[in-house]
Amino acid sequence: MSSDEQELPVFTTAADMRNWVRKQKKSGRKVALVPTMGYLHEGHLSLVKAAKERADIVVASIYVNPTQFAAHEDFDVYPRNPVRRSIGSSRGFEGQTLPALDDRAKLAAAGCHAVFEPESLYVSVPGAGEGSNVVGRETQHPDSHETYVTVERLQRPLCGGSRPHFFRGVCTVVTKLFHICEPDVAVFGRKDYQQWRVISRMVRDLDFAVEVVGMPICREPDGLAMSSRNARLSPEAREKALCISRGLAWAEAAVAEGRVSEPSEVSSHIRGLIEEAGGKVDYVELLDAGNLGPISDLASQPTLLAIAAHFPAKDRGTVRLIDNTVLGEAKKE
Ligand code: AMP
Repeated sequence: MSSDEQELPVFTTAADMRNWVRKQKKSGRKVALVPTMGYLHEGHLSLVKAAKERADIVVASIYVNPTQFAAHEDFDVYPRNPVRRSIGSSRGFEGQTLPALDDRAKLAAAGCHAVFEPESLYVSVPGAGEGSNVVGRETQHPDSHETYVTVERLQRPLCGGSRPHFFRGVCTVVTKLFHICEPDVAVFGRKDYQQWRVISRMVRDLDFAVEVVGMPICREPDGLAMSSRNARLSPEAREKALCISRGLAWAEAAVAEGRVSEPSEVSSHIRGLIEEAGGKVDYVELLDAGNLGPISDLASQPTLLAIAAHFPAKDRGTVRLIDNTVLGEAKKE
């Protein structure tokens, strides 16, 4: 274990995390939060880097949030690094779950200052078990969690269409993380473009004292958007999934060169590419990049072109991948 790793404090309870952050803030330090679901890749670490440029202290959270998954989704098989339990440690972590070595080492190397990895962020009801806050599997116990945050309109299109429970879960857990970590800045990736817009709106509407920053998408050398879920793709499916980023690149060029004029031309061409590759389209949509409202033509830029599609998983079922580009703005990234 490197000395960096040893120095990376890990907090598993809200109270410990909050106390530590408050001490930092008392010393006049600005705090940034990078929320993640772990199984970290360079995309996550680019957010840590961006956070370091904007604050003195960077806290990364690792938590696979059950309330943003429905019972039929991939909560149980979502990629996780194996967690370690420290037994009889002199460092006061007895019996608590610690972040996976891989994620810790990566965060330490990226210069992160602390990790928040709670076992659960929801009231635990005796006997409810892990995943009892997955939508559709919730316990009916009267003491279970029942307060949620919803951003009404912005959550409806795109991912909200096929995952109606999703943004309620995201906004609720991000609200909790903001209350626990009290960040001055929170850094999100534009890979989850709608999530970034929804959280920005929540922060504005509910007067959170947090600056929300959205960073560009990090891609593999062949163009595939980095994602923890990529680890679940079979090698053949990973190759086929490249049609998503190729479709985005085609649209950027076609729009810039004036080869297409209608949003429907763009979406039907990309749908064709995905179906030809054996993927199952969830959505291919072009929307106003600012308010995620409908657009009537490609002149109304910046336009968000967002894609979600399923490809075969190597274990079971499919992997749902999302990607996007902002037409008319892509060159700036
Ligand atoms: P996740 O662990 O997938 O919930 O993602 C945590 C944060 O990392 C979110 O703000 C994501 O948008 C961001 N993120 C995930 N993948 C990428 C990527 N390829 N490039 C930039 N940010 C990303």
